[in-house]
Amino acid sequence: MQSLLDFAQMKTEESISSGRRRILKQCIDREGPYVVRNKKKLLSFSCNDYLGLAQHPGLKEAAIAAVNEWGSGACASRLVTGNHSLYEELEKEIASLKNSEAAIVLGSGYLANLGIIPALASKGDLIVADRLVHSSIISGCILSGAKLLRFGHNSALSCNEILRKHRKNYRNCLIITEHVFSMDGDIAPITDIMAIAKDYDAWVMTDDAHGLGVCAQGEENNADIQMGTFSKAVGSYGGYVCAKKEVIDYLIGAIKTLVYSTALPPAVVASSIAALKIIKHDKKLCAKPLQNALLFTKLMGLDYAKSPIVPLIVGDEKAALQLENYLENKGFLVVAIRPPTVPPKTARLRLAFSALHHEGDIAKLADAIKSFKIA
Ligand SMILES: *Cc1c(COP(=O)(O)O)cnc(C)c1O
Repeated sequence: MQSLLDFAQMKTEESISSGRRRILKQCIDREGPYVVRNKKKLLSFSCNDYLGLAQHPGLKEAAIAAVNEWGSGACASRLVTGNHSLYEELEKEIASLKNSEAAIVLGSGYLANLGIIPALASKGDLIVADRLVHSSIISGCILSGAKLLRFGHNSALSCNEILRKHRKNYRNCLIITEHVFSMDGDIAPITDIMAIAKDYDAWVMTDDAHGLGVCAQGEENNADIQMGTFSKAVGSYGGYVCAKKEVIDYLIGAIKTLVYSTALPPAVVASSIAALKIIKHDKKLCAKPLQNALLFTKLMGLDYAKSPIVPLIVGDEKAALQLENYLENKGFLVVAIRPPTVPPKTARLRLAFSALHHEGDIAKLADAIKSFKIA
């Protein structure tokens, strides 16, 4: 027997000695792409607000108007009395943007994955997921009780091999991948995966958390189930799933994180609507984050960026933290990402480029990174 206090202290000591302790640091006073941390103004390359919409006057006004009309909370789940009228508009907007028949909005991207996957697969079914999919997808798979097998990152060949060997032993099969990978910024071979799914009678689900609004929605829109979040380029909060109408009709009653969780506050839904309208009409704004990432990879002599996310793989966890601190001293916020968020020995700086970054800032960042020597 161990007291809770002893248990917590033991765990914290373990994380300190392995260099993996996580602590919360305050980030205040956002102003454009700048944040204030430790009383210092830093140019951030670690925000997922790729289009700068979180501070857009249109989103703020929509949120304030919704608070004034409906109040601060939704007061119940959507199936009870929380289904305020803004939801319908948001679902129409997101379905149209994703070129999909229907959509359902959920509490967050994490809650979406946690709810959708167990609604689609259970014991006796097979889930085949890319090795690098987000933690919320893995949690959803575990909760489903289905058999989970992983394929090599972005390898259609490896996916095919797993299905060839194992598909026959299971009832239904769900293949899950991301559109844009959150820690690597690369893009899944969705057309190839769709072809494999056809051969093996499988369904395809994609997570578009980092693609919506900033990467072309071509192949991605063909997936049977498309989920994503309003918390990144959309600059607001909430999750969604798009699919054929019959599938959405079924999911409404089957997603437990929808049935048993309170609806989103009206203000949040209103901001998302305002943001999707901007995304729909301002193509120039939506193209800017990738253009900025491409400028950076060109200046650094790296492979061309495929999305606004560019990883600088350092490998060693301490070296990644050293680089983070070095850049912080030079006025940049680029947070190091370490295992277990990324695989062992692939600690990295994850750069997220935004429409708010200026070309001159990107050149300064590239120079700062080039001047770093591992101590
Ligand atoms: C951020 C993220 C989520 C979770 O979305 P939230 O709305 O922040 O809960 C899910 N999947 C991926 C790939 C993500 O990057």
